[in-house]
Amino acid sequence: MKSIFGFLLGVALAASAAAQTRVVTLGTQGGPLPSLTRSQPANALVVRDRIYLVDAGNGVAHQLLAAGLDHRKVERIFITHNHDDHNADWGTLMGLQWSTGRRAEVHVYGPAGTESMLQGFLQYFAPNARIRMGDSKAYPDPRGLFHAHDIAGPGQIYKDDLVTVTAVENCHFAHGTDAQRDAQDKSYALRFQTPDRVVVFSGDTGRCAGLDAFAKDADVLVHEVIDLPLIEKAMRRELPPEMADGLMRHMTAEHTTAEDVGRLAQAAKVRKVVLTHVIPGRDEPDSVYTDAVKKHYDGPAVVARDLMTF
Ligand SMILES: [Zn+2]
Repeated sequence: MKSIFGFLLGVALAASAAAQTRVVTLGTQGGPLPSLTRSQPANALVVRDRIYLVDAGNGVAHQLLAAGLDHRKVERIFITHNHDDHNADWGTLMGLQWSTGRRAEVHVYGPAGTESMLQGFLQYFAPNARIRMGDSKAYPDPRGLFHAHDIAGPGQIYKDDLVTVTAVENCHFAHGTDAQRDAQDKSYALRFQTPDRVVVFSGDTGRCAGLDAFAKDADVLVHEVIDLPLIEKAMRRELPPEMADGLMRHMTAEHTTAEDVGRLAQAAKVRKVVLTHVIPGRDEPDSVYTDAVKKHYDGPAVVARDLMTF
């Protein structure tokens, strides 16, 4: 009897340990075109009661609310790269936190340029801060609250008592035509080690050999995905031909097909694949992606919608 009790206690403890970390997909659209069915890219990694944000596309404060997460409790923000579908609202989120009562520091970690972007945001924010600080003495100077850090990857970029975050450059800007842009602008994949799980976010990337080792044995691989025939069809229909040509080069070289996500997941032996940043992400069935992943990967693969939890 005692041993059965012990077994049940063990199961309960294991279940509670498994619940320490969860991923909430706040925005699953491959942007930047606004969509009524999917929000711009953002994910919350919730570890116990702490919220770490990975990317902050337009509307992220609204999506946090919809997920039942208090936007004021986001303490750390990580930006994988500086395309506007990923970075549009990190400053805005910080500002809304300040305006609605957060008084503890907020830190954002992003590619080179993040620190100077914070200075730009503080300038943008200054008139609002001046007006509110005139209304009430309860508002501290926002310059003391917001902090930005340029990622100096590869390797460990952040650590606290709950998570260790490592970064590696992925292959999102690797094939660009603008050499200067390639030299100064970086795009990163991020790996979070929490007390009970390893969660890897691919960021935006083409098929990238370095990610096989980086994602090794992850419990959850949150990976971007694209269907090239579907997006090409949509762009040829909606855009001038020369614009569609340029964009197809970017889509082909700097994003990842579902088959290639499956190859990576199998090589890295990850336990679960969550597909997000879906392009085109319109009304195509999930099987467009999951069937292709399954050609190469024998674990579970799910196409995320906004506000799912994994
Ligand atoms: Zn991008």
